[in-house]
Amino acid sequence: MNRRIYISGEKIGRCIFIKEVESKRRRGMFICECGNEFEAQFNHIVSGQSCGCRKKQSIHHLVAYGFRGNLKTGLAVLSQRTKGYNTWNAMKSRCYNSNNPRYQDYGGRGIEICDRWRYSFENFINDMGIKPIGHSIDRIDVNGSYEPSNCKWATGKEQNSNKRYKK
Ligand SMILES: [Zn+2]
Repeated sequence: MNRRIYISGEKIGRCIFIKEVESKRRRGMFICECGNEFEAQFNHIVSGQSCGCRKKQSIHHLVAYGFRGNLKTGLAVLSQRTKGYNTWNAMKSRCYNSNNPRYQDYGGRGIEICDRWRYSFENFINDMGIKPIGHSIDRIDVNGSYEPSNCKWATGKEQNSNKRYKK
């Protein structure tokens, strides 16, 4: 369990720590990035949770976009969609940012992203579908580019076996 001593005013995750309110269960008083003051367990704050405003905002977005299904499911999909967005950003960085530590294995080797995906996250997620939990983007031909016909979501295990076949 997290037993670190925090100092009042210290930034933890998205929040500022104010004071401990319960030592046994490690609860504290925090100020959220939105300005809200609230009580929570340290572990939750360390793992990046907010006062709940982010969740409320996500629900607000779902409703605003006309989402009619189960909100819990909707939030899970939204979160996976966000992970898909992170994948998309990381992919662009590997291919086009020469400061990326992995650039030499991607952009540096001529691996590119098709224009359809490079300039539109919407196109990317529409073609690939929501990223399944525990999966990452895999190129079927490891020397080929990032484009709909050459990509699939795969688990780490599937990716490794793919690499073995290629060798
Ligand atoms: Zn908040």
